[in-house]
Amino acid sequence: MGVRYCDFKDIDRGDFDAVVVGSGFAGGVVARELAERGGQRVLVIEKRSHIGGNMYDEADDAGILVHRYGPHIFHTNDKRAFDYVRRFTEWRDYQHEVLADWYGTYLPVPFNKNSMEIAFGKEKAARLTEKLIETFGDERKVTITELRAQDDPELSEIADFIYKNVFLYYTQKQWGLTPEEVDPSVTARVPVFVSRDNRYFQDAYQGMPAEGYTPLFERMLDHENIQVCLDTEAENVFELEFESSDESAPLSAILIKSAPFEGPIVYTGPLDELFLSRFGRLPYRSLDFVYETHDAEHMLPCGTVNFTVTEDYTRITEFKYLTGQKSDKTTIMKEYSRSYDDPKRQIPYYAIVGDENAAHYERYRELTKSLPNFHPLGRLAEYRYYNMDVIIGRALALADELVG
Ligand code: FAD
Repeated sequence: MGVRYCDFKDIDRGDFDAVVVGSGFAGGVVARELAERGGQRVLVIEKRSHIGGNMYDEADDAGILVHRYGPHIFHTNDKRAFDYVRRFTEWRDYQHEVLADWYGTYLPVPFNKNSMEIAFGKEKAARLTEKLIETFGDERKVTITELRAQDDPELSEIADFIYKNVFLYYTQKQWGLTPEEVDPSVTARVPVFVSRDNRYFQDAYQGMPAEGYTPLFERMLDHENIQVCLDTEAENVFELEFESSDESAPLSAILIKSAPFEGPIVYTGPLDELFLSRFGRLPYRSLDFVYETHDAEHMLPCGTVNFTVTEDYTRITEFKYLTGQKSDKTTIMKEYSRSYDDPKRQIPYYAIVGDENAAHYERYRELTKSLPNFHPLGRLAEYRYYNMDVIIGRALALADELVG
């Protein structure tokens, strides 16, 4: 039958047992589970004019399927999450590869035995690789910090090369930082993969929805107990009641159409927005995407190229690699990282994690703890970076808790 869309002004709040804000994987999975497993009547409120959250994809003017909020590749070791999404679509096998553009030469990322040959030449690479294997073993992922800790000039040379040519400028662009501001804890995690495996992910289950993500969400939300209001912001349909007029007083109720709503409210938007930023806005990084369609079968050698030493954009993605679509045209997308200054015009993409921001988030989270039927879930409401599979797992766990 398809998704049942509705207009918020026409709904009767008594017709619903649960309200879900947002229709990405967090909201979509919970809505489906409450409806199907719990037999609950679920109202989904989505501020965009489409479902699917950041996974939304559509055909562009050239007929090429593109992702509108950044390239999304599914990969997981969580069988439950993969089995779950398999219910709603066929999957095509796709193993993502990323290359770093190093002054016009391509290096596989994560940096591996193949990258080492390109960067250092075969002979030196063979020596370095042997040393890596002797020190850490074959097929291992080793961090730059581990390399430096060996106090060996050759291992340090590899670490320095990767830091300067693959990591530093990319990270500065991505997070808008000076080299001094790049947190050592982030640098510490940059891996070298002692392997010939050029795949970006090594997870057991990897792939792309055969017809795209949007049809997956259309099937997930196609349930007789689910209604979806698009173009509707939670801030405009919720009335928040607090225990007192003090700005730090906890929530006592959420009203919908002037009456307290007592069923579960699963909220997957930014918590600061819900509280009209009373403690100031939570910091995020935003992105601008610039699309180009070319009369060529392919423009890049693989799905994504990272620009690690040149250009203002961080990376380019060519969607046809991800989707497997055949066409004599192709669309690529350049990704520019931006500060998040204007919530009306921009989208919050990446929470900027760190102790100070976590404490800032916690102030908002505290306001909601008094309300047992309010459940913040997802990359925005929890102010964390989560991959899709983790969100699906967390949404299933919340559904287990709510409907058994
Ligand atoms: P979202 O998908 O953002 O959904 C939240 C929904 O809530 C949105 O539809 C939004 O419009 C709606 N909403 C927000 N506020 C309100 C409100 N006040 N009222 C009503 N509606 C509201 N993960 C991977 O596993 N693989 C990848 O390759 C990958 N690539 C990524 C690339 C980029 C650029 C980014 C930023 C993330 C990527 N991710 C990837 C992570 C992935 O996007 C998240 O795991 C996923 O979006 C989480 O789903 P969600 O439902 O929590 O959030």
